[in-house]
Amino acid sequence: MRANTATKLGDETGWGKRHGIWSDRLSGFARLCEERAAEADEASHLSPAVTTALREAGILVAPLPPDHAGQGLLQSSQWLLLHEALRAFGAADLSIGRLFEGHCNAIELVRRYGTSRQFEDLAAGIRRGAMTGVWGADGNKPLCIKRHEGRWQLEGGKILASGSGFLLKPLVTASSEEGQRIVLLDLEGEDARIDLSRWTPQGMRSSATGSVDLSGIVIGDDNLIGEPGDFMRQPYFSGGAWRFCAVHLGAIERLVDLFIAQLRARRRDEDPYQLQRVATCITAARSTAYWTKAAARHLALSSHDAESCVALSNLTRGVTERAALDVMEVIQRGIGLASFMRPGPIERISRDLRTYLRQPVPDLAMADAARFALAAEVPVRDMWTADAN
Ligand SMILES: Cc1cc2nc3c(=O)[nH]c(=O)nc-3n(C[C@H](O)[C@H](O)[C@H](O)COP(=O)(O)OP(=O)(O)OC[C@H]3O[C@@H](n4cnc5c(N)ncnc54)[C@H](O)[C@@H]3O)c2cc1C
Repeated sequence: MRANTATKLGDETGWGKRHGIWSDRLSGFARLCEERAAEADEASHLSPAVTTALREAGILVAPLPPDHAGQGLLQSSQWLLLHEALRAFGAADLSIGRLFEGHCNAIELVRRYGTSRQFEDLAAGIRRGAMTGVWGADGNKPLCIKRHEGRWQLEGGKILASGSGFLLKPLVTASSEEGQRIVLLDLEGEDARIDLSRWTPQGMRSSATGSVDLSGIVIGDDNLIGEPGDFMRQPYFSGGAWRFCAVHLGAIERLVDLFIAQLRARRRDEDPYQLQRVATCITAARSTAYWTKAAARHLALSSHDAESCVALSNLTRGVTERAALDVMEVIQRGIGLASFMRPGPIERISRDLRTYLRQPVPDLAMADAARFALAAEVPVRDMWTADAN
């Protein structure tokens, strides 16, 4: 029987065998994250051992193409490899999963919309150990690009910026006269701009999701990625939501494993109500996995069909959120008070998952998916014939 995240990774799909050394490194890294997750939660920052391993185990470079020393995780043909990495990190520590997901998102944006020179520069920075991410959320002072003494400079800042103080090369969105722009920054030595004092959530404490004041930073053409409006271009903007769902999936599965282990340890595994709960949890977890894989595969292979990619990813968000909430409720009732006790992993993972589940406009995502179905005028079974039937 599989005991932990690391063994689960290779066994699940067989890709462990196909990707040998990378798989071993990934499994080792996930195991380390899992071991250090409680300490990171307590300290509200990642363990130094984890940040070192992020670089040394080749995790940061993995999304880069092979000719840039990576594993090509972002190539369409490798959608399952990326799915499994996100799932493994979600199982190990949701904060790491969040940061790695943002890292992948940023690399993909620069690869898709940036010049080859911009991509080369980012890849070189990542090979030197820099992590990237995407900071899109605006607070009271939305980030904008203004003309100042003949130069372009940033005014305002970002909120809910994961990896604040840790990400050296974040992408930020900023409004300009031409529309919304993507700006690639170098924040080395800019720690004074970071404010983590308002990051006081129940969970995801070590994701360091702070506020950043970017006023006064001078930018040039090298900083501007793509054209105005590229950031929200579909299907990639909404369709990419499957990635955070895959991270959530890892945590859901980990909770179910912990629940089963608890029932066994307390010899409560024959009770018919508990059996019913286990079945409920397993169906929720497995169903989520089918959806996240379908959404990932559909975006990778059918991106020309933008609306259907977006709709499938939006529905996957709803399925994943429902499954996570159901599993957490069932486990709380099945284990009782012990599931609220610190420093138990069930308490911490549930706290992290409940926090990280809060993603932008969940109602709109479901409403848009419903509109897609209404407009499609085909039977449900034919809506995603290639991938999800
Ligand atoms: C751990 C963590 C890390 C994060 N890291 C990053 C990061 O690195 N970069 C980044 O850009 N963001 C980040 N975010 C922010 C994230 O992308 C979302 O912006 C944020 O989580 C939105 O949460 P919310 O529940 O407040 O969403 P909301 O969208 O405000 O939703 C709250 C509720 O309001 C409803 N609602 C929304 N809009 C309307 C409306 N106009 N009218 C009526 N109802 C409405 C929604 O459907 C929902 O029911 C992070 C969030 C978390 C939890």
